[in-house]
Amino acid sequence: MNNTVDVVVIGAGVTGMSIAWHLVDAGVRALVVERTGVGAGQSSIQLGGVRTQWTAAETIRMAQQALAFYQDIGATLRPSVDPAFDPCGYAFVATTQQTMLALAAGARLQQEMGSPTEVLGPDEMARRVPALRTAEVLGGTYNAHDGYFDRPDQVAAAFAEAARRRGVRLMNSTVDALRAGSGGWRVELADGRHVEAAHAVVAAGRGQRIPDRCGRSRSSDRACGCRWSSCRPVRCRRRS
Ligand SMILES: Cc1cc2nc3c(=O)[nH]c(=O)nc-3n(C[C@H](O)[C@H](O)[C@H](O)COP(=O)(O)OP(=O)(O)OC[C@H]3O[C@@H](n4cnc5c(N)ncnc54)[C@H](O)[C@@H]3O)c2cc1C
Repeated sequence: MNNTVDVVVIGAGVTGMSIAWHLVDAGVRALVVERTGVGAGQSSIQLGGVRTQWTAAETIRMAQQALAFYQDIGATLRPSVDPAFDPCGYAFVATTQQTMLALAAGARLQQEMGSPTEVLGPDEMARRVPALRTAEVLGGTYNAHDGYFDRPDQVAAAFAEAARRRGVRLMNSTVDALRAGSGGWRVELADGRHVEAAHAVVAAGRGQRIPDRCGRSRSSDRACGCRWSSCRPVRCRRRS
């Protein structure tokens, strides 16, 4: 099997599989290496909430793009199991003045960026969320377009199915080390195989650490301590 690709993606959670699908959609040859299975990490155990109610402009912009994508996920990815996005609305509730002010400030930014978040008092909140007990509620924010996935575990699976259909290969192995080479990356696997790639995307989930040999010779080995998500080629090359 030829294990030389344009991009190797480490981790088959929603991050890795979405990146792999978007790469192949853009005509880039990608290979995903996953130690367990698609969605084996956090991507299968989250609550499925999808909201544009964030407080930083960058996050709001990304969330708006994600929401637009998820509204059409069935038509775009054509998954065999529908993750079932439900745009049922999403509420944040304040029981202190401080939280109420923070929610209102966030809502102002969201509105400026085109999201129809509303700032509501307790009675209006109760009307939108009938099960809400408002005795201690000062108010909150509500966005009728936000929602959740009924089958959130199926989102990474949907990306994986669509990516495979387009020719993305999934390799079942644990990445043991990521070495920077002259032409790109050498990804060393625990089973003795390796992958050569011009670019490496580390999507191995939060808190994963690169095991030792981060672009350095074995003799000078000691845990480099950099996290998967922040280990960029330049940084690793500097350490070698
Ligand atoms: C639709 C959706 C809704 C969400 N809603 C919420 C929400 O309401 N609230 C919330 O808090 N969060 C939510 N999240 C976010 C979620 O909690 C996680 O942050 C997210 O799923 C992390 O995805 P990931 O791909 O980065 O990591 P993971 O899903 O953890 O994937 C990492 C993968 O890398 C693999 N891996 C790790 N190390 C190696 C290695 N050395 N070699 C090979 N493979 C390796 C793991 O086996 C795993 O499969 C949501 C996510 C989605 C998709």
